[in-house]
Amino acid sequence: MNETRTTCPYCGTGCGLRVSGASANVAGQIPAIKVQGDNSHPANLGRICVKGSALDKTMGLQGRLLAPHIKHQRVSWEQALDHAAQRLADIIQQYGPDAIAFYASGQLLTEDYYAANKLMKGFIGSGNIDTNSRLCMSSAVAAYKRAFGEDAVPCNYEDIELADVVVLVGSNLAWAHPVLWQRLAAARAARPDMQIIAIDPRRSTTCAEADLHLAITPGSDSALFTGLVNWLITEGKEDALWRSRTVGRTETAQAAAPWTADKVAEYCGLSRNQVEAFYQLYCKPRRVMTLWCMGINQSATGTDKCNAIINAHLVSGQIASPGCGPFSLTGQPNAMGGREVGGLANQLAAHMDFTPEAIERVGRFWGSNRTAHKPGYKAVELFQAVERGDIKAIWIMGTNPAVSLPDTNQVARALAMCECVIVSDITAHTTTAAFADVLFPAQGWGEKEGTVTNSERRISRQRRFAEPPGEARPDWWIIAQIARRMGYEKAFDWSHPHEIFSEHAALTGFENQGERLFDISRLSRLTRTEWEQLQPIQWPVNSHYPAGCPRLFQDGVFAFPDGKARLVPVHPQPPRGTTSKYYPLVMNTGRIRDQWHTMTRTGMVEGLLQHRNKPYCEINPADASQAGITENRLVRLQSATGWMLCRAVITDAQPVGQVFVPMHWSSQFALQSQPGALITAHRCEISGQPESKFTPVRA
Ligand code: SF4
Repeated sequence: MNETRTTCPYCGTGCGLRVSGASANVAGQIPAIKVQGDNSHPANLGRICVKGSALDKTMGLQGRLLAPHIKHQRVSWEQALDHAAQRLADIIQQYGPDAIAFYASGQLLTEDYYAANKLMKGFIGSGNIDTNSRLCMSSAVAAYKRAFGEDAVPCNYEDIELADVVVLVGSNLAWAHPVLWQRLAAARAARPDMQIIAIDPRRSTTCAEADLHLAITPGSDSALFTGLVNWLITEGKEDALWRSRTVGRTETAQAAAPWTADKVAEYCGLSRNQVEAFYQLYCKPRRVMTLWCMGINQSATGTDKCNAIINAHLVSGQIASPGCGPFSLTGQPNAMGGREVGGLANQLAAHMDFTPEAIERVGRFWGSNRTAHKPGYKAVELFQAVERGDIKAIWIMGTNPAVSLPDTNQVARALAMCECVIVSDITAHTTTAAFADVLFPAQGWGEKEGTVTNSERRISRQRRFAEPPGEARPDWWIIAQIARRMGYEKAFDWSHPHEIFSEHAALTGFENQGERLFDISRLSRLTRTEWEQLQPIQWPVNSHYPAGCPRLFQDGVFAFPDGKARLVPVHPQPPRGTTSKYYPLVMNTGRIRDQWHTMTRTGMVEGLLQHRNKPYCEINPADASQAGITENRLVRLQSATGWMLCRAVITDAQPVGQVFVPMHWSSQFALQSQPGALITAHRCEISGQPESKFTPVRA
């Protein structure tokens, strides 16, 4: 039986999978495959979760887009490509390059992402390419850059198992990263002295399993960690070595000084005993990991929250050694790969910013004198620019922003009035695809070749094991075909994703005198056969680290001219929105265990729907009683921007004054069930990441 080793297309854990028994994807037939965890993959060591193990049920043709379309009429590839390229060229000629935008996805492979970024920033000449990863981890990216001088996750999954104390903040790890949770639970079972601390306003599955659950007031995370910094300093728990490796200590200590344990307790809605219990566990001379996810990143002060966490690790010295570190988990399978190629509007390429030197250097590497010279619009601003008419054409690749962005009514208005909407996807049945003037059928998981990078910087291969259906093509191919029609034949003359990967890897080392940690130039020399057989490896991969690097900054040297890390003074701020007598409840959103994003794949699997089969909101019994809501009753949630319908689940796991709504449902699955319609477009001024965890609503 054929067996293919590949990587899961869902969460940022990036599990290795063994797929056996593939067959041709013939119309009407579901390829018969069996999916198992790959024992040899370091991310999961053979483990797999329910979503991964149900991947075989998602390989059918239900809902697949099988041919290109213009205005919902089937056309040939030639017609679709010619039409789209001409529309883009006409708009550039009439309005300039900044009238074009791409909106990409952490679902894309690195090679696809690289091609899209190169076309937009290198040849169209605009910074207007952003991604749904803006909603995922852009606050962590900004915080790492502020603290380390580079967007670099210092630690790895093995460190989670080695830690004595694991702090989970804004992360329902048990549901959002199930295999990482399995690894953590197994480590604790083997080492009963290991402590898990969960910080989350609601009692999630993760919190119920933790040794200590701190149900903080929504949005008060910065205060908790800034108070921790103050505690570390006043209790004499600073690490002397790391004090010498950082700057900004005076300003950071001053900012933290008001945040005594009493003040933190009051601000965070905790008892002083709870705050002290957390600080004392953290302060013991043990190994501490802090893992965070969307509960921290998706905030109008997300970057400061991340830096408050990183500050605590730098002050205590809990970093750059086994079992220690501040670790932002990515949500998507290739959110990290998008960061690497420059898929965020504020990055140029290969972890380079829009500095004059980098613009010149990247332009020379690409052979282009049209390289963008300034950042473009970030996700929310990008769709606002579409509605203003500043952007006339948008190409959306592998994502569904009409469901997943905040204020989806605004996104729908923008797409409805946009002169040219191009969508590349595996399905035409998304809310976004309904707005498309041009639809390109993309290849899906198991049908295409490329690489992804998981949360711990580990590059893994996604491999093809099934024939693509209909006329589906790889995303990189579609992008290259458009680029060639726009006159950039030579720069996009690729015939295989291996060539794109080699070019991307070469760019990371191009005239890199060691100022950029992200350097995988050694992989640029791989032959096609070696690339096809590439084993999972953690960047950097260069002459210093030919076998990759599992743990960064062990030499205590950071990417600033003085080599020192930065402590960032944090002044905790409340969330941007405020409750009122009209909107007395705070709506929090998040993932559930068995669904993925807007359900375009997992929503097809009957077995996965059995976990939760309809949109719902969790609400405290007191709030339900006050609003006259009974169990399973249809509830209308209303915010300042929109409304949705869902069933009530009454539970004391949800604190008084707060409701929780899964992020996944949309009108594709249930009438008026889209939480994005309610979420306001508040976002972090530094990272641009929207505040999806704090929306005032009424029920
Ligand atoms: Fe896939 Fe994530 Fe489950 Fe691993 S934990 S099998 S990457 S969904």
